[in-house]
Amino acid sequence: MENCVFCKIATGEIPARKLYEDDEVIAFWDIDPQAPYHFLVVPKKHLASTTALREADDKLAGKLLRLGAKLAQENNVGDFRVIFNNGPMAGQEVFHMHMHVLGGRKLGKLG
Ligand code: 5GP
Ligand code: ZN
Repeated sequence: MENCVFCKIATGEIPARKLYEDDEVIAFWDIDPQAPYHFLVVPKKHLASTTALREADDKLAGKLLRLGAKLAQENNVGDFRVIFNNGPMAGQEVFHMHMHVLGGRKLGKLG
């Protein structure tokens, strides 16, 4: 999708510090980390948010979770939290769905 920063990262048009990439998914370090470890796991296809997921995406959604946990372990993140912000009131700023993985410090309560 045009003018989507994560579509542009997925195609390589915008650079990112990548942890992982295959034909469906890309993972990269967040440009403005909110914890000592903060990376994003992003489907390459443009889905605006988690509410855009359909049954056909079940496998893809599961892959995001599995890969996030695997990459956290491979990068010695220790305990971690995964977050999907859905909608502006929940803090979503980039409208291409992504999973945050945060760790490396004591994380506060949600909300
Ligand atoms: P949201 O607030 O939409 O859940 O999260 C968007 C995240 O993307 C933010 O944590 C923000 O720092 C990150 N981000 C936005 N633009 C870029 C970029 O160009 N490169 C990288 N690596 N992260 C970005
Ligand atoms: Zn996009």
